[in-house]
Amino acid sequence: MDTYQDIRDGVANLCSEFPGEYWRKVDALRQYPTAFVQALNENGYLSVLIPEAYGGSGLPLSAGCAILEEIQRSGGNAGACHAQMYIMGTLLRHGSEAQKEQYLPAIASGKLRLQAFAVTEPDSGTDTTRIKTRAVRDGNCYVVSGKKVFISRAEHSDLMVLLVRTTPREECEKRTHGLSVLLVDLREAVGNGLTIKPIRTMMNHSTTELFFDELRVPVANLIGEEGRGFYYIIDGMNAERILIASECIGDARWFIAKAADYARDREVFGRPIGQNQGVQFPIAHAFIQTEAAAAIVERAAQLFDSGKSPGSEANMAKLLASEAAWEAANVCIQTHGGYGFAEEYDIERKFRETRLYQVAPISTNLILSYVATHDLNLPRSF
Ligand SMILES: Cc1cc2nc3c(=O)[nH]c(=O)nc-3n(C[C@H](O)[C@H](O)[C@H](O)COP(=O)(O)OP(=O)(O)OC[C@H]3O[C@@H](n4cnc5c(N)ncnc54)[C@H](O)[C@@H]3O)c2cc1C
Repeated sequence: MDTYQDIRDGVANLCSEFPGEYWRKVDALRQYPTAFVQALNENGYLSVLIPEAYGGSGLPLSAGCAILEEIQRSGGNAGACHAQMYIMGTLLRHGSEAQKEQYLPAIASGKLRLQAFAVTEPDSGTDTTRIKTRAVRDGNCYVVSGKKVFISRAEHSDLMVLLVRTTPREECEKRTHGLSVLLVDLREAVGNGLTIKPIRTMMNHSTTELFFDELRVPVANLIGEEGRGFYYIIDGMNAERILIASECIGDARWFIAKAADYARDREVFGRPIGQNQGVQFPIAHAFIQTEAAAAIVERAAQLFDSGKSPGSEANMAKLLASEAAWEAANVCIQTHGGYGFAEEYDIERKFRETRLYQVAPISTNLILSYVATHDLNLPRSF
Protein backbone atom coordinates (compact mmCIF):
# COMPACT_ATOMS: atom_id res chain seq x y z
CA MET A 1 0.00 0.00 0.00
CA ASP A 2 1.27 3.47 -0.94
CA THR A 3 1.64 5.67 2.14
CA TYR A 4 2.55 8.70 -0.02
CA GLN A 5 5.67 9.36 2.04
CA ASP A 6 7.08 11.75 -0.58
CA ILE A 7 3.86 13.79 -0.50
CA ARG A 8 3.83 13.70 3.30
CA ASP A 9 7.45 14.94 3.42
CA GLY A 10 6.65 17.72 0.94
CA VAL A 11 3.60 18.87 2.91
CA ALA A 12 5.50 18.72 6.21
CA ASN A 13 8.25 20.82 4.65
CA LEU A 14 5.75 23.41 3.36
CA CYS A 15 3.99 23.49 6.73
CA SER A 16 7.26 24.18 8.53
CA GLU A 17 7.15 27.62 6.85
CA PHE A 18 3.82 28.24 8.62
CA PRO A 19 4.62 27.66 12.30
CA GLY A 20 2.45 28.17 15.39
CA GLU A 21 3.01 31.96 15.34
CA TYR A 22 1.37 32.16 11.89
CA TRP A 23 -1.70 30.16 12.96
CA ARG A 24 -2.01 32.05 16.26
CA LYS A 25 -2.00 35.36 14.42
CA VAL A 26 -4.68 34.42 11.85
CA ASP A 27 -6.71 32.84 14.66
CA ALA A 28 -6.53 35.94 16.87
CA LEU A 29 -7.48 38.23 13.97
CA ARG A 30 -9.98 35.73 12.51
CA GLN A 31 -8.17 36.09 9.19
CA TYR A 32 -8.24 33.65 6.31
CA PRO A 33 -4.81 31.96 5.99
CA THR A 34 -4.38 33.20 2.41
CA ALA A 35 -0.60 32.75 2.21
CA PHE A 36 -0.84 29.14 3.39
CA VAL A 37 -3.64 28.25 0.96
CA GLN A 38 -1.72 29.91 -1.88
CA ALA A 39 1.39 27.91 -1.04
CA LEU A 40 -0.63 24.67 -1.10
CA ASN A 41 -2.12 25.65 -4.46
CA GLU A 42 1.23 26.61 -5.95
CA ASN A 43 2.62 23.23 -5.00
CA GLY A 44 -0.36 21.40 -6.50
CA TYR A 45 -1.54 19.87 -3.23
CA LEU A 46 -5.16 21.02 -3.55
CA SER A 47 -5.54 19.55 -7.04
CA VAL A 48 -4.20 16.05 -6.44
CA LEU A 49 -7.65 14.50 -6.87
CA ILE A 50 -8.42 16.31 -10.16
CA PRO A 51 -7.76 13.97 -13.12
CA GLU A 52 -4.64 14.64 -15.19
CA ALA A 53 -6.82 15.34 -18.23
CA TYR A 54 -8.03 18.48 -16.43
CA GLY A 55 -4.64 19.57 -15.13
CA GLY A 56 -4.58 17.82 -11.74
CA SER A 57 -2.41 14.92 -10.56
CA GLY A 58 -5.18 12.29 -10.83
CA LEU A 59 -4.18 10.63 -7.54
CA PRO A 60 -6.53 8.51 -5.43
CA LEU A 61 -8.33 9.71 -2.30
CA SER A 62 -5.60 8.21 -0.05
CA ALA A 63 -3.21 10.87 -1.36
CA GLY A 64 -5.65 13.61 -0.35
CA CYS A 65 -5.93 11.97 3.07
CA ALA A 66 -2.14 12.01 3.46
CA ILE A 67 -2.02 15.74 2.66
CA LEU A 68 -4.78 16.75 5.09
CA GLU A 69 -3.41 14.52 7.86
CA GLU A 70 0.06 16.06 7.52
CA ILE A 71 -1.30 19.62 7.67
CA GLN A 72 -3.09 18.89 10.94
CA ARG A 73 -0.18 16.89 12.30
CA SER A 74 2.09 19.88 11.77
CA GLY A 75 -0.20 22.06 13.93
CA GLY A 76 -1.93 23.80 10.99
CA ASN A 77 -5.60 23.94 10.05
CA ALA A 78 -6.72 22.42 6.75
CA GLY A 79 -10.28 23.60 7.45
CA ALA A 80 -9.37 26.67 5.43
CA CYS A 81 -9.07 24.72 2.20
CA HIS A 82 -10.00 21.03 2.56
CA ALA A 83 -13.34 21.53 0.79
CA GLN A 84 -11.68 22.20 -2.56
CA MET A 85 -10.61 18.56 -2.60
CA TYR A 86 -14.07 17.10 -2.23
CA ILE A 87 -16.39 19.77 -3.69
CA MET A 88 -14.82 19.48 -7.12
CA GLY A 89 -15.99 15.83 -7.08
CA THR A 90 -19.59 17.02 -7.63
CA LEU A 91 -18.48 18.85 -10.77
CA LEU A 92 -16.26 15.99 -11.89
CA ARG A 93 -18.88 13.25 -11.51
CA HIS A 94 -22.02 15.11 -12.54
CA GLY A 95 -20.95 18.18 -14.53
CA SER A 96 -21.16 18.32 -18.34
CA GLU A 97 -17.97 18.01 -20.38
CA ALA A 98 -18.21 21.73 -21.20
CA GLN A 99 -18.45 22.64 -17.46
CA LYS A 100 -15.51 20.40 -16.59
CA GLU A 101 -13.38 21.91 -19.33
CA GLN A 102 -14.37 25.41 -18.34
CA TYR A 103 -13.68 25.08 -14.62
CA LEU A 104 -11.49 22.12 -13.63
CA PRO A 105 -8.20 23.19 -15.29
CA ALA A 106 -8.56 26.68 -13.77
CA ILE A 107 -9.26 25.14 -10.34
CA ALA A 108 -6.30 22.78 -10.73
CA SER A 109 -3.95 25.66 -11.58
CA GLY A 110 -5.19 27.74 -8.64
CA LYS A 111 -6.67 30.48 -10.88
CA LEU A 112 -10.17 29.71 -9.66
CA ARG A 113 -11.06 28.85 -6.09
CA LEU A 114 -13.87 26.35 -5.48
CA GLN A 115 -13.94 26.39 -1.69
CA ALA A 116 -17.62 26.93 -0.84
CA PHE A 117 -20.39 24.39 -0.57
CA ALA A 118 -23.84 25.58 0.52
CA VAL A 119 -26.33 23.07 1.88
CA THR A 120 -27.22 23.96 5.51
CA GLU A 121 -30.16 26.28 6.21
CA PRO A 122 -31.38 27.86 9.44
CA ASP A 123 -34.77 26.15 9.43
CA SER A 124 -33.93 22.70 8.09
CA GLY A 125 -30.65 21.82 9.84
CA THR A 126 -29.63 18.25 9.14
CA ASP A 127 -32.96 17.50 7.47
CA THR A 128 -31.67 18.47 4.02
CA THR A 129 -34.81 17.62 2.06
CA ARG A 130 -36.60 20.45 3.91
CA ILE A 131 -34.37 23.21 2.59
CA LYS A 132 -36.36 26.25 1.52
CA THR A 133 -33.95 28.06 -0.80
CA ARG A 134 -35.89 28.03 -4.08
CA ALA A 135 -34.70 28.34 -7.65
CA VAL A 136 -37.39 29.21 -10.17
CA ARG A 137 -36.74 29.00 -13.87
CA ASP A 138 -37.06 32.29 -15.79
CA GLY A 139 -35.86 32.08 -19.40
CA ASN A 140 -32.23 30.99 -19.45
CA CYS A 141 -31.72 31.70 -15.73
CA TYR A 142 -32.77 30.32 -12.36
CA VAL A 143 -33.92 32.96 -9.89
CA VAL A 144 -32.71 31.99 -6.42
CA SER A 145 -34.24 33.23 -3.13
CA GLY A 146 -33.64 32.00 0.40
CA LYS A 147 -31.05 31.71 3.18
CA LYS A 148 -28.11 29.47 4.03
CA VAL A 149 -26.18 29.32 7.28
CA PHE A 150 -22.67 28.21 8.30
CA ILE A 151 -21.37 28.35 4.75
CA SER A 152 -17.62 28.37 5.13
CA ARG A 153 -15.09 30.19 2.99
CA ALA A 154 -17.73 31.91 0.79
CA GLU A 155 -15.74 35.14 1.12
CA HIS A 156 -12.58 33.38 -0.06
CA SER A 157 -13.91 31.44 -3.01
CA ASP A 158 -14.72 32.29 -6.63
CA LEU A 159 -17.23 29.51 -7.11
CA MET A 160 -19.79 27.86 -4.87
CA VAL A 161 -21.74 24.62 -5.18
CA LEU A 162 -25.29 25.46 -4.07
CA LEU A 163 -28.15 23.10 -3.25
CA VAL A 164 -31.60 24.52 -3.99
CA ARG A 165 -35.15 23.27 -4.29
CA THR A 166 -36.41 23.46 -7.87
CA THR A 167 -39.70 21.58 -7.29
CA PRO A 168 -41.68 22.07 -4.07
CA ARG A 169 -41.40 19.06 -1.72
CA GLU A 170 -45.18 18.46 -1.71
CA GLU A 171 -45.18 18.10 -5.51
CA CYS A 172 -42.46 15.43 -5.49
CA GLU A 173 -43.01 11.70 -5.43
CA LYS A 174 -40.15 11.33 -2.93
CA ARG A 175 -38.84 13.97 -0.52
CA THR A 176 -35.34 13.47 -1.96
CA HIS A 177 -36.54 14.52 -5.41
CA GLY A 178 -36.83 18.09 -6.67
CA LEU A 179 -33.47 19.37 -5.34
CA SER A 180 -30.84 20.68 -7.74
CA VAL A 181 -27.20 21.74 -7.68
CA LEU A 182 -26.10 25.07 -9.16
CA LEU A 183 -22.57 26.33 -9.61
CA VAL A 184 -22.63 29.97 -8.51
CA ASP A 185 -19.98 32.42 -9.64
CA LEU A 186 -19.53 34.38 -6.42
CA ARG A 187 -17.58 37.14 -8.15
CA GLU A 188 -20.72 38.08 -10.09
CA ALA A 189 -23.31 37.12 -7.48
CA VAL A 190 -22.18 39.23 -4.50
CA GLY A 191 -24.05 42.52 -4.60
CA ASN A 192 -26.36 41.26 -7.36
CA GLY A 193 -28.79 39.20 -5.30
CA LEU A 194 -26.35 37.58 -2.88
CA THR A 195 -25.27 39.07 0.45
CA ILE A 196 -22.64 37.37 2.61
CA LYS A 197 -22.50 37.99 6.36
CA PRO A 198 -19.64 36.53 8.43
CA ILE A 199 -20.45 34.47 11.55
CA ARG A 200 -17.83 34.70 14.26
CA THR A 201 -17.29 31.26 15.79
CA MET A 202 -15.11 29.85 18.56
CA MET A 203 -12.43 29.01 16.02
CA ASN A 204 -11.10 30.62 12.84
CA HIS A 205 -13.27 29.01 10.18
CA SER A 206 -14.43 31.87 7.91
CA THR A 207 -18.01 30.71 8.08
CA THR A 208 -20.91 32.88 6.88
CA GLU A 209 -24.63 33.39 6.39
CA LEU A 210 -25.87 33.80 2.84
CA PHE A 211 -28.95 35.77 1.81
CA PHE A 212 -30.32 35.20 -1.69
CA ASP A 213 -32.71 37.82 -3.02
CA GLU A 214 -33.63 36.93 -6.59
CA LEU A 215 -30.08 36.01 -7.56
CA ARG A 216 -30.00 35.08 -11.26
CA VAL A 217 -27.91 31.99 -12.04
CA PRO A 218 -27.60 30.89 -15.69
CA VAL A 219 -29.25 27.55 -16.47
CA ALA A 220 -25.90 26.61 -18.01
CA ASN A 221 -24.63 26.43 -14.41
CA LEU A 222 -26.98 23.61 -13.43
CA ILE A 223 -24.87 20.58 -12.54
CA GLY A 224 -26.30 17.32 -13.86
CA GLU A 225 -30.05 16.89 -14.11
CA GLU A 226 -32.60 19.18 -12.50
CA GLY A 227 -34.23 17.46 -9.50
CA ARG A 228 -31.37 14.99 -8.83
CA GLY A 229 -29.26 17.27 -6.63
CA PHE A 230 -29.82 15.41 -3.37
CA TYR A 231 -28.24 12.30 -4.84
CA TYR A 232 -25.27 14.26 -6.19
CA ILE A 233 -24.61 15.71 -2.74
CA ILE A 234 -24.96 12.34 -1.00
CA ASP A 235 -22.62 10.88 -3.58
CA GLY A 236 -19.78 13.12 -2.43
CA MET A 237 -20.22 12.41 1.25
CA ASN A 238 -18.05 9.32 1.55
CA ALA A 239 -15.04 11.18 0.19
CA GLU A 240 -15.76 14.15 2.45
CA ARG A 241 -16.04 12.00 5.57
CA ILE A 242 -12.87 10.03 4.85
CA LEU A 243 -10.88 13.21 4.17
CA ILE A 244 -12.14 14.90 7.34
CA ALA A 245 -11.41 11.74 9.32
CA SER A 246 -7.80 11.96 8.09
CA GLU A 247 -7.63 15.52 9.36
CA CYS A 248 -8.79 14.28 12.76
CA ILE A 249 -6.08 11.61 12.78
CA GLY A 250 -3.55 14.36 12.07
CA ASP A 251 -4.93 16.41 14.97
CA ALA A 252 -4.85 13.40 17.31
CA ARG A 253 -1.25 12.64 16.41
CA TRP A 254 -0.24 16.27 16.95
CA PHE A 255 -1.87 16.32 20.43
CA ILE A 256 -0.36 12.98 21.45
CA ALA A 257 3.17 13.91 20.33
CA LYS A 258 2.87 17.26 22.12
CA ALA A 259 1.57 15.62 25.32
CA ALA A 260 4.23 12.89 25.34
CA ASP A 261 7.06 15.39 24.73
CA TYR A 262 5.87 17.60 27.55
CA ALA A 263 5.32 14.67 29.93
CA ARG A 264 8.92 13.53 29.35
CA ASP A 265 10.37 17.00 29.97
CA ARG A 266 8.27 18.62 32.66
CA GLU A 267 9.58 17.87 36.14
CA VAL A 268 7.38 18.22 39.22
CA PHE A 269 8.09 16.59 42.64
CA GLY A 270 11.60 15.88 41.38
CA ARG A 271 10.69 13.64 38.43
CA PRO A 272 9.16 13.89 34.95
CA ILE A 273 5.38 14.04 35.18
CA GLY A 274 5.26 11.31 32.50
CA GLN A 275 6.76 8.89 35.03
CA ASN A 276 3.44 8.99 36.87
CA GLN A 277 1.06 6.41 35.49
CA GLY A 278 -1.79 8.84 36.13
CA VAL A 279 -0.20 11.05 33.45
CA GLN A 280 1.18 8.42 31.04
CA PHE A 281 -1.85 6.09 30.89
CA PRO A 282 -4.29 8.66 29.46
CA ILE A 283 -1.73 9.52 26.76
CA ALA A 284 -1.25 5.82 25.96
CA HIS A 285 -5.01 5.36 25.88
CA ALA A 286 -5.45 8.26 23.44
CA PHE A 287 -2.65 6.80 21.30
CA ILE A 288 -4.36 3.38 21.17
CA GLN A 289 -7.69 4.97 20.23
CA THR A 290 -6.00 7.00 17.50
CA GLU A 291 -4.19 4.03 15.97
CA ALA A 292 -7.44 2.02 15.93
CA ALA A 293 -9.30 4.91 14.29
CA ALA A 294 -6.47 5.40 11.77
CA ALA A 295 -6.78 1.74 10.71
CA ILE A 296 -10.49 2.22 9.92
CA VAL A 297 -9.79 5.49 8.10
CA GLU A 298 -7.16 3.71 6.00
CA ARG A 299 -9.55 0.86 5.27
CA ALA A 300 -12.32 3.26 4.22
CA ALA A 301 -9.90 5.12 1.91
CA GLN A 302 -8.67 1.87 0.35
CA LEU A 303 -12.23 0.68 -0.29
CA PHE A 304 -13.06 4.06 -1.84
CA ASP A 305 -9.96 3.92 -4.04
CA SER A 306 -10.85 0.42 -5.22
CA GLY A 307 -14.12 1.79 -6.61
CA LYS A 308 -16.44 0.70 -3.77
CA SER A 309 -18.96 2.97 -2.05
CA PRO A 310 -17.95 2.45 1.59
CA GLY A 311 -20.81 4.30 3.33
CA SER A 312 -20.49 2.46 6.65
CA GLU A 313 -16.70 2.55 6.76
CA ALA A 314 -16.62 6.27 5.88
CA ASN A 315 -19.11 7.06 8.63
CA MET A 316 -17.36 4.87 11.19
CA ALA A 317 -14.00 6.39 10.25
CA LYS A 318 -15.34 9.92 10.76
CA LEU A 319 -16.91 9.08 14.14
CA LEU A 320 -13.90 7.19 15.52
CA ALA A 321 -11.34 9.69 14.26
CA SER A 322 -13.21 12.77 15.52
CA GLU A 323 -13.62 11.13 18.94
CA ALA A 324 -9.96 10.06 19.03
CA ALA A 325 -8.89 13.63 18.21
CA TRP A 326 -11.13 15.05 20.92
CA GLU A 327 -9.86 12.55 23.49
CA ALA A 328 -6.25 13.36 22.55
CA ALA A 329 -7.00 17.10 22.77
CA ASN A 330 -8.40 16.69 26.25
CA VAL A 331 -5.45 14.58 27.41
CA CYS A 332 -3.00 17.09 25.92
CA ILE A 333 -4.54 20.01 27.77
CA GLN A 334 -4.62 18.00 31.04
CA THR A 335 -0.98 16.93 30.65
CA HIS A 336 0.09 20.55 30.23
CA GLY A 337 -1.73 21.73 33.35
CA GLY A 338 -2.08 25.52 33.27
CA TYR A 339 0.17 25.86 30.23
CA GLY A 340 -2.40 24.03 28.10
CA PHE A 341 -4.53 27.15 28.34
CA ALA A 342 -1.77 29.57 27.31
CA GLU A 343 -2.15 30.60 23.66
CA GLU A 344 1.55 30.28 22.84
CA TYR A 345 1.41 26.49 23.23
CA ASP A 346 -1.19 26.22 20.40
CA ILE A 347 -3.08 23.56 22.34
CA GLU A 348 -6.13 25.64 23.22
CA ARG A 349 -6.42 26.71 19.55
CA LYS A 350 -6.21 23.15 18.23
CA PHE A 351 -8.59 22.07 21.03
CA ARG A 352 -11.19 24.54 19.73
CA GLU A 353 -10.55 23.59 16.12
CA THR A 354 -10.85 19.84 16.55
CA ARG A 355 -14.11 20.05 18.51
CA LEU A 356 -15.92 21.04 15.32
CA TYR A 357 -15.52 17.62 13.75
CA GLN A 358 -18.07 15.96 16.00
CA VAL A 359 -20.69 18.37 14.62
CA ALA A 360 -19.65 19.31 11.08
CA PRO A 361 -19.79 18.28 8.34
CA ILE A 362 -22.02 15.66 9.95
CA SER A 363 -22.90 15.25 13.61
CA THR A 364 -22.16 12.10 15.60
CA ASN A 365 -25.84 11.24 16.11
CA LEU A 366 -26.48 11.19 12.39
CA ILE A 367 -23.55 8.81 11.90
CA LEU A 368 -24.91 6.53 14.63
CA SER A 369 -28.28 6.66 12.91
CA TYR A 370 -26.68 5.67 9.58
CA VAL A 371 -24.89 2.68 11.12
CA ALA A 372 -27.96 1.62 13.15
CA THR A 373 -30.20 1.58 10.10
CA HIS A 374 -27.76 0.40 7.40
CA ASP A 375 -25.60 -2.08 9.30
CA LEU A 376 -27.91 -3.25 12.06
CA ASN A 377 -31.21 -3.07 10.19
CA LEU A 378 -32.84 -1.06 12.99
CA PRO A 379 -35.87 1.09 12.13
CA ARG A 380 -35.29 4.67 11.00
CA SER A 381 -36.19 7.38 13.51
CA PHE A 382 -36.84 10.00 10.81
C1 LIG B 1 -17.93 26.03 11.69
C2 LIG B 1 -18.95 25.38 10.83
C3 LIG B 1 -18.73 25.29 9.47
C4 LIG B 1 -19.72 24.72 8.64
N1 LIG B 1 -19.52 24.73 7.28
C5 LIG B 1 -20.55 24.36 6.46
C6 LIG B 1 -20.46 24.54 5.04
O1 LIG B 1 -19.44 25.01 4.52
N2 LIG B 1 -21.52 24.20 4.28
C7 LIG B 1 -22.69 23.70 4.81
O2 LIG B 1 -23.62 23.42 4.05
N3 LIG B 1 -22.80 23.52 6.16
C8 LIG B 1 -21.77 23.83 6.98
N4 LIG B 1 -21.89 23.69 8.35
C9 LIG B 1 -23.13 23.17 8.91
C10 LIG B 1 -22.99 21.79 9.52
O3 LIG B 1 -22.89 20.82 8.51
C11 LIG B 1 -24.21 21.61 10.43
O4 LIG B 1 -24.07 22.49 11.54
C12 LIG B 1 -24.33 20.20 10.93
O5 LIG B 1 -24.60 19.35 9.84
C13 LIG B 1 -25.47 20.09 11.95
O6 LIG B 1 -26.62 20.77 11.50
P1 LIG B 1 -27.34 21.84 12.44
O7 LIG B 1 -26.32 22.76 12.97
O8 LIG B 1 -28.48 22.44 11.72
O9 LIG B 1 -27.89 20.96 13.63
P2 LIG B 1 -29.33 20.31 13.77
O10 LIG B 1 -29.71 19.54 12.56
O11 LIG B 1 -30.25 21.36 14.26
O12 LIG B 1 -29.06 19.29 14.97
C14 LIG B 1 -28.75 19.71 16.30
C15 LIG B 1 -28.36 18.51 17.13
O13 LIG B 1 -29.45 17.59 17.16
C16 LIG B 1 -29.04 16.32 16.69
N5 LIG B 1 -30.12 15.70 15.91
C17 LIG B 1 -30.88 16.27 14.94
N6 LIG B 1 -31.78 15.37 14.47
C18 LIG B 1 -31.57 14.22 15.14
C19 LIG B 1 -32.15 12.91 15.09
N7 LIG B 1 -33.15 12.61 14.25
N8 LIG B 1 -31.69 11.96 15.95
C20 LIG B 1 -30.69 12.25 16.81
N9 LIG B 1 -30.10 13.46 16.90
C21 LIG B 1 -30.51 14.42 16.07
C22 LIG B 1 -27.82 16.56 15.82
O14 LIG B 1 -26.97 15.42 15.80
C23 LIG B 1 -27.18 17.76 16.52
O15 LIG B 1 -26.31 17.31 17.55
C24 LIG B 1 -20.90 24.19 9.21
C25 LIG B 1 -21.09 24.25 10.60
C26 LIG B 1 -20.14 24.84 11.40
C27 LIG B 1 -20.41 24.92 12.87
